Amino acid sequence: PSPDDPPYLRGLNPPQREAVLTAEGPVLVLAGAGTGKTAALTARLAHLIYTRRAWPSEILAVTFTNKAAREMRDRIGRMVGDAVEGMPWLGTFHSIAAKMLRRHAELVGLQSNFTILDTDDQLRLLKQIIAASDLDEKRWPARQLAGLIDKWKNRGWTPSDVDAGESELFANGRGADLYAQYQARLKAVNACDFGDLLLHMLVILKTRRDVLEQYQSRFKYILVDEYQDTNASQYLWLRLLAQQRKNICCVGDDDQSIYSWRGAEVANILRFEKDFPGAVIIRLEQNYRSTPHILGAASGLIAENSGRLGKTLWTEQGEGEKVRVLGVWDGPEEARRVGELIEDHQRRGGSLDDCAILVRAQFQTREFEDRFIAIGLNYRIVGGFRFYERQEIRDALAYLRVVNQPADDLAFERIVNTPKRGLGDKALAKVHALARAQGIPLTLAAARILDTDELTPQARRALGNLIGDIARWRDMAGQLPHPELARQLLDESGYTAMWQADRSADAAGRLENLNELVRAMEEYETLGAFLEHVSLVMDNDERAGGEQVTIMTIHAAKGLEFDTVFLAGWEEGVFPSQRSLDEGGNASLEEERRLAYVAITRARKRAYILHAANRRIYGQWTSSIPSRFVGELPKAHIEEETSMTGGESLWRANWSERADPFANVARGTGRGPGWQRAASVGGYQTTPSRVVEARASAVSLGNKGRSDLALGQRVFHQKFGYGTIAEIEGNKLEIDFEQAGRKRVMDSFVSAG
Ligand code: ATP
Ligand code: MG
Repeated sequence: PSPDDPPYLRGLNPPQREAVLTAEGPVLVLAGAGTGKTAALTARLAHLIYTRRAWPSEILAVTFTNKAAREMRDRIGRMVGDAVEGMPWLGTFHSIAAKMLRRHAELVGLQSNFTILDTDDQLRLLKQIIAASDLDEKRWPARQLAGLIDKWKNRGWTPSDVDAGESELFANGRGADLYAQYQARLKAVNACDFGDLLLHMLVILKTRRDVLEQYQSRFKYILVDEYQDTNASQYLWLRLLAQQRKNICCVGDDDQSIYSWRGAEVANILRFEKDFPGAVIIRLEQNYRSTPHILGAASGLIAENSGRLGKTLWTEQGEGEKVRVLGVWDGPEEARRVGELIEDHQRRGGSLDDCAILVRAQFQTREFEDRFIAIGLNYRIVGGFRFYERQEIRDALAYLRVVNQPADDLAFERIVNTPKRGLGDKALAKVHALARAQGIPLTLAAARILDTDELTPQARRALGNLIGDIARWRDMAGQLPHPELARQLLDESGYTAMWQADRSADAAGRLENLNELVRAMEEYETLGAFLEHVSLVMDNDERAGGEQVTIMTIHAAKGLEFDTVFLAGWEEGVFPSQRSLDEGGNASLEEERRLAYVAITRARKRAYILHAANRRIYGQWTSSIPSRFVGELPKAHIEEETSMTGGESLWRANWSERADPFANVARGTGRGPGWQRAASVGGYQTTPSRVVEARASAVSLGNKGRSDLALGQRVFHQKFGYGTIAEIEGNKLEIDFEQAGRKRVMDSFVSAG
């Protein structure tokens, strides 16, 4: 280091400097968490610009998230001054590929203004294709095909690359053919999906020398962060672009490869040296992020994995606190403890922005959200939706709202055809028209329309079943505890089955969320009280500005750091996840362990690991076992404590075998499972009368017939044509139609002939 060093070199250690200053030729930085890989990569970018080796527009720089790209852009701006005019090729693989593809769209049969489909559009298109191929969508769900096509695209396969064995995975070998049809349809509508962005560009680079050479000479330097999580198609893409100049620098950590389920291949790290002979391999060993205890705990844990490249990590930081492993009684207590610890941190002058709660699965955020709202702690969910805003939760809530409040039209609209019941737009438009005309709620309009011949037999049957179900659920609401009602309702409506049949990557998480919703209901006395809580929670949203605790999954936390990190739910079946245990293979367990390593290494100063002795799963209290990962943490770096002390723990020990549902009430929390038993008694008394009231008010609405219609009058009806009114009953008419014979119709659908 010399005093004349440009600002971006200051403070970098020798191997980091080497990573920055070895500008020419292939470089691979392979190093553990927090060793300054991203920092070095950023400095390297600044160096290339500062020394005029390349214009910003001649550098391709890939980050894992858009947020990381923004941060890198800001940092470079500060390092080399605002002489940096944009960095057009700094972004995620997808954003960069999209930009390229717009320029060359015609080479793959698209126009440059092509649309990028979201998952919903993608599914709709696949459904059409499946239906048109005379396949039963129930047996061969579009989501499953979507998952396969994504996988193939991640591998860089066009339809003709899909071999028979892979094709066999869908509809008895028709997978590849359906994939081809899907690609053809996309082209026809000038669209592509996410995976296409990379795949199309890959095809273009492979087949069009001129285009390839254009980019090979444009990109004088290529830089890639989080290299361990690139998939095959991304790798091929990089290799093509770098093949000529070979100025490619990738930074990564094999121990942090956590996206194999999305096609990432850690083997790409090993291939690098082969594909780029003479590559300079740089190892960084000094960790600047975490205290020795945090580092020691993480290193001890990851040492349990086999087949690692292996590395040493050290730090100059003072010892700091040991990692605290907290055993708590149950989920609510876990949330309460974390809330308390964060409030302590605030009282000592700490900021909420320094704190993060990292979870293995999305459903785990619910308990924290509810608790933080209750105690008024600002939080944000990163990389996902707040619990009650997730699609499956909104759907389930809509069912409950319809049962609770018959006039809730928005809720009814949401569920009327979810899951699909064969109700077409036309039938629904009729229900809407009637509701508008008579000023009544949709459920009532639907019930009335069923008494008529307005609908096709199929639509009528479907709507009839739904309305019948809703009435039955309302009756059940008076007799069952509301969590039980919710469970049955989700089963009987086919909603749970819809996600069970779904083989996409996120379906299992959605089912977990639905279970968590039922669990959450147990804490409220009545269905109404629960729904009220939810609307308050929703309202609590997006308070602009201010400090916030971050809640996110470990996957979303990659590359980030926080002073204090809370790692929740370290129990067998939660983390490692049940799925990874069921799969049984060592590979999936090792990926879970890498996730645990990523989780711990996000912490700068303090890490808390929590595990609960009891979790409620499918409405049953089960005692849970601390995660094997807890046992793998070196004792020297952790401090274990359980919140159960003295008499209380004895008392609980007595109860724990039976996992007594009254435990929480006895402990005076005023909430939790015991409360719920009392609640269902309350539910008994209040629910039926409220439902009856709601029904009565719905029925009294707009029941009067039209005054401009009379017996014997000639009228016109959209569907049945002209006829004469034979009977009038409220707003229903019996009409002798000239062509269609006698039919019952709604008065709002006829006009005076
Ligand atoms: P991860 O594997 O989690 O992505 P990383 O290797 O990319 O980690 P960085 O995020 O770049 O690590 O750096 C970790 C922390 O160390 C950051 O706060 C960064 O500012 C700091 N840091 C990096 N290099 C140095 C250095 N030479 N001197 C002081 N601090 C450094
Ligand atoms: Mg990094």
